[in-house]
Amino acid sequence: MRSLLIYPLFPQSFWSFEKTLELIGRKAMLPPLGLITVAAILPQTWEFRLVDRNIESISEADWDWAEVVILSGMIVQKEDLLAQVQEAKKRGKKVAVGGPYATALSQEVQAVGADYLVLDEGEITLPLFAEALEKGEPNGVFRAPEKPDVSQTPIPRFDLLKLDAYSEMSVQFSRGCPFQCEFCDIIVLYGRKPRTKTPEQLIAELEALYNLGWRRSIFLVDDNFIGNKRNVKLLLKALVPWMEEKGFPFPLSTEASVDLANDQELMDLMVAANFGAVFLGLETPDEDSLTVTKKYQNTRDPLSDSVHKIISSGLRVMAGFIIGFDGEKSGAGDRIVQFVEKTTIPTAIYSMLQALPDTALWHRLEKEGRLRGQSANINQTTLMNFVPTRPLEQIAQEYLDGFWQLYDPQKFLDRTYRHYRILGEAYRNKPRQKRAPKPFDWNNVKAFLVICWRQGLVRETRFSFWKYLWNMYRYNRGGIGSYLGVCAQIEHFLEYREVVKVEIEQQLAEFLATKAEPEKEELVVSR
Ligand code: SF4
Repeated sequence: MRSLLIYPLFPQSFWSFEKTLELIGRKAMLPPLGLITVAAILPQTWEFRLVDRNIESISEADWDWAEVVILSGMIVQKEDLLAQVQEAKKRGKKVAVGGPYATALSQEVQAVGADYLVLDEGEITLPLFAEALEKGEPNGVFRAPEKPDVSQTPIPRFDLLKLDAYSEMSVQFSRGCPFQCEFCDIIVLYGRKPRTKTPEQLIAELEALYNLGWRRSIFLVDDNFIGNKRNVKLLLKALVPWMEEKGFPFPLSTEASVDLANDQELMDLMVAANFGAVFLGLETPDEDSLTVTKKYQNTRDPLSDSVHKIISSGLRVMAGFIIGFDGEKSGAGDRIVQFVEKTTIPTAIYSMLQALPDTALWHRLEKEGRLRGQSANINQTTLMNFVPTRPLEQIAQEYLDGFWQLYDPQKFLDRTYRHYRILGEAYRNKPRQKRAPKPFDWNNVKAFLVICWRQGLVRETRFSFWKYLWNMYRYNRGGIGSYLGVCAQIEHFLEYREVVKVEIEQQLAEFLATKAEPEKEELVVSR
């Protein structure tokens, strides 16, 4: 069976980093791990061709070649996903769709003519789909009554990727998270019992990437890498000697809950296994809001102390923040900005709260008649999709002001530098790791020169830029490459904060115009 795997386009977003990618000569941040896992699960007698629309377009030869077209994506990719289903149907192809978007909103995918809905987790539903297709069944909806054992998942087909196009690679060790944050769709899709691969299995994936020549960063896309601390420690204990033997060929990063700060052994193991950064869902420094959203794990210790402990252990912190929780008091935006400044977090992803389909938040708001439509978007450029408890215009204004301040070039550079000074202190007392030399990359030289030109000459950051670079050379020489990589992110954020401002202001104006004419208002829609 000739299968064309299509990964839909992402809109410009916080994570799309177009300007930064342009600097380093890459086309996308991360590859479609889901689709290359799909290719590994389907019968290996089938032929696969992968088109990631974020790095290339689909040619007529690709369409002609395909006997079946398979798509997968997240809600944020839905516009392009639906368009590609229609393109495939126009050409008379059989179309199968799976992944988080199709699982959450299958009726939208069905409405554009997809033949097969391969929902939930593919380890269970893909074999059912393959069997139906081979038997000639014209359509079908495949669901999994239970969660699969991921220790049986095969190594993703990394060989299908155009490796040069990606800035980072992705692998996955676990699925699911034990917590119960009200807005989270992860626990709806993957459950609250974290399921992990075996250490040997993950190391075999890293070995496959190593053998393909991959030497850049790898992101473990786990929902919460430390959801099962026992198993993650077993993995790390096996990973450290593998990394040492290979000369630490790639830095790792991941997502974790903030209770990581309470486990020094775990943080030390992560650093020893070459983890350099971790993304934390901090959401807000307002404890009342954390309680309202059932993010109790973030209320147990002072959040800023936890962040400091993690950075001081040698892990760069990236973090997510949300505004718009029920009962939130005015000034929440400012409090987030102050918290980010205090904790020195350079990359702070900032969003207005959205109710995602099927989450506990969605169901509560639906019951309260507060949803403003059936769609959801997890982008930073969309107004909230429900009626909040304080005026939407107030939340939106605080959000815009906060976004603007967070990505002010001078503030961003200052924060990044302060962050790397703490990291420098953390590494001062650690034993030096024997690292294999990295392959020379002209793109990095070019990127360095462009950053020096823009941030060190053209912009008003010029004095700080050179002062900080000199201090980095004196106090944290080993961290300079990573520091400059984070400095480069401002190239994206400067453009993106403009996009956020224009789009939110436009939607806000439309919202206020509607509000002024309540008889035209179409507020509450129930599913
Ligand atoms: S900690 Fe993160 S992944 Fe876990 S439930 Fe909360 S938001 Fe979801």
